[in-house]
Amino acid sequence: MNAHFKCFRGCPGEYSIYDVMYTCPHCGGLLEVQHDIDALRERSGEEWKALIDGRSSSHTHPYGSGVWGMKEFIAPDLRDENIISMYEGNTNLFNARRLGEQIGLPDLWVKLSGNSHTGSFKDLGMTVLVSIVKQILANGDSPVKAVAAASTGDTSAALAAYAAAAGIPSIVFLPQDKVSPAQLIQPIANGAQVLALDTDFDGCMQIVKALTQDSSIYLANSMNSLRVEGQKTVGIEIAKQFNWELPDWIVMPSGNLGNISALYKGLKLMMALGMTDKMPRLVAAQTAKANPLYRSAQAGFEGKITVTAQTTLASAIQIGDPVSYEKAVAAIKGSDGRVEQATEDELANASAMADRTGLYTCPHTGTALAVLFKLVDEGVIRSDERVIIISTAHGLKFTPFKLGYHQSALDEVIARHANPPINLPADLNAVKAAIAARV
Ligand SMILES: *Cc1c(COP(=O)(O)O)cnc(C)c1O
Ligand SMILES: [Zn+2]
Repeated sequence: MNAHFKCFRGCPGEYSIYDVMYTCPHCGGLLEVQHDIDALRERSGEEWKALIDGRSSSHTHPYGSGVWGMKEFIAPDLRDENIISMYEGNTNLFNARRLGEQIGLPDLWVKLSGNSHTGSFKDLGMTVLVSIVKQILANGDSPVKAVAAASTGDTSAALAAYAAAAGIPSIVFLPQDKVSPAQLIQPIANGAQVLALDTDFDGCMQIVKALTQDSSIYLANSMNSLRVEGQKTVGIEIAKQFNWELPDWIVMPSGNLGNISALYKGLKLMMALGMTDKMPRLVAAQTAKANPLYRSAQAGFEGKITVTAQTTLASAIQIGDPVSYEKAVAAIKGSDGRVEQATEDELANASAMADRTGLYTCPHTGTALAVLFKLVDEGVIRSDERVIIISTAHGLKFTPFKLGYHQSALDEVIARHANPPINLPADLNAVKAAIAARV
């Protein structure tokens, strides 16, 4: 059983996933990992489900990981001793019944992908990429000396952690002053070389692309389709958590568009292997400040539209020139999906409203929720349908966003759910009066 790189646009040629390459040598487009479907079909759909179910409750390295429990779907010939895993995946599906009832959608769930080692879903892809690099290095004769990525904050945190666990040097490029304090300190703590550039994410991406023309530095952005392989497990995992039944809709915040492409790829694989015959409808949620896919969708996907991304609270999706545009268009079209956008006010209030029902959402999850609210209001999503929101990062990584909201200090946001602390003297009567005013 084998997997190889192939041009996503269909140019001829197959390449080893252990080669240092990121784009098609013929057309310059993205590669994707193609699997030997005939070999995978030697197990039935039911047999795959049973195998994955069994592994997810085990602690055997590396198969107890939500990603590596599906190793045959990712990198069948990767040697287990090279796998750098932090038991990513197998994240909780939050039953958002109270929030769902408030919006007339009782069957609402939030996949907490941010409940992971570095606090975002980026761990799912990074375990695969760093493990492949580990095997490249173990095989010897490789020019690779370090791994590098441009990041809006979460990719760099994941890369730095996995590279540190593997003992591989890492270099991260961050747009100066555009990531949260938690995101800035994570790669610093893990020993990455942190380069804060005086530009935005798209500017960092240009630099890292040029830098990694030299194969001594291995590119870890989602332009590298190995990341997609790990991230594609999220949809399969959601199915597993519902006894292998797929939901009607999956909504996810989208920036560089690697994750929505990955979600679709995993779901398509399930269909190819007879594990399901249902394709959920996928929704890419963007912020109005960085909405190139939304604009492309409005124009009927006639061509890729890029924008200069404006400052947004949803900083991890502040991207104007998404690398995985073509793959994302295939995902939206192939799933009869949608692209919607949310304003700063909508995403911040949606996030706060969800928090009131027990969640603790990052601004990107707020973006997905705001988009959900719109689609429910418009009747596009019906009240009897099952919907999954992919929460992409942990809210604890975005404390300035949370604080700013509850202090009513965010630009362009009227904080309708602000709940600031009440400062009082240490006086029982003052305390009683304050409580009486509210309860
Ligand atoms: C990376 C990231 C996204 C966007 O994922 P893409 O693959 O770039 O579309 C969304 N939310 C968070 C928290 C992220 O870190
Ligand atoms: Zn090509």
